Amino acid sequence: MQPKRTRPDWLKIRFAVNDNFRELHRIVKDNALHTVCEEARCPNQSECWGKGTATLMILGDVCTRSCGFCAVKTGRPPQYDRQEPYRVALAVQKMNLRHVVITSVNRDELPDQGSEVWAATIEQVRQLNPATSVEVLIPDFKGVWEPLKHVIDARPDILAHNVETVPRLYRRVRPQAKYERSLRVLEQSKLHGMTTKTGIMAGLGETYDEVLALMQDLAAIGVDIFTIGQYLQPTKRHLPVERFVHPDEFAEYKRAGEEMGLKHVESGPLVRSSYHAQEQVEKMSGAPCGGPIANVRLGVG
Ligand code: SF4
Repeated sequence: MQPKRTRPDWLKIRFAVNDNFRELHRIVKDNALHTVCEEARCPNQSECWGKGTATLMILGDVCTRSCGFCAVKTGRPPQYDRQEPYRVALAVQKMNLRHVVITSVNRDELPDQGSEVWAATIEQVRQLNPATSVEVLIPDFKGVWEPLKHVIDARPDILAHNVETVPRLYRRVRPQAKYERSLRVLEQSKLHGMTTKTGIMAGLGETYDEVLALMQDLAAIGVDIFTIGQYLQPTKRHLPVERFVHPDEFAEYKRAGEEMGLKHVESGPLVRSSYHAQEQVEKMSGAPCGGPIANVRLGVG
């Protein structure tokens, strides 16, 4: 039996529900949508939903992969819902979001791996919400170019794909993924003019030097935004926490990563890919999302 680790003070979070939280919950349910905040049992739900932001998850709530850290259900997903892109766009409108983060489960069983729904979602969100910037957190599409091109052609403002951990731990943490393949997704996206973003979880058994080496790999392919936060075990069936990383070490990752050339490193115990996503975009662009220079494109192409 694994030893139970007591969370340090910096990871103790008070869960509170305010009117924003209740309203967001209603919009998500009324539109039959899913959020990764709920499915992945994110520790920041109270804070993010309390401020009226959430990360929407498309293509259903059943994933074809079985990553050791992830609480999303694994199995053979049912047929996807062609109306989902419109309902996502409607929900974004009702939530009055200036910046939206959309992610999905893996749909490895589909010939296009769900990329048609991805593109339709980006397009419909834009149509209904022209002032909202769109960040997509996509799967690796098994490294196939056509589905990735489909998403790139829809021109999201930020294209994110998480490498999740250091290469040595892939077999245990992401058994159906490949580190090199994920790097190629980010590299291809960057070469096609996207602003790119990726992230990992700390505390799964990686070493300090391995994180530095990973950040070097990311800087070498021009990744713009990097996030790193503490892994928390969602249930007893998931991978254990190997170590709680001290906030000072997170501060050191930020300093080192930005020195290596990553434009923005968001690093801290509670950081998740979508945590403070809007603030990251605003910092990089120098303008508020949906403000006077609404929907600024950050890509280089
Ligand atoms: S950090 Fe992301 S996944 Fe977690 S609650 Fe906030 S928006 Fe949702």
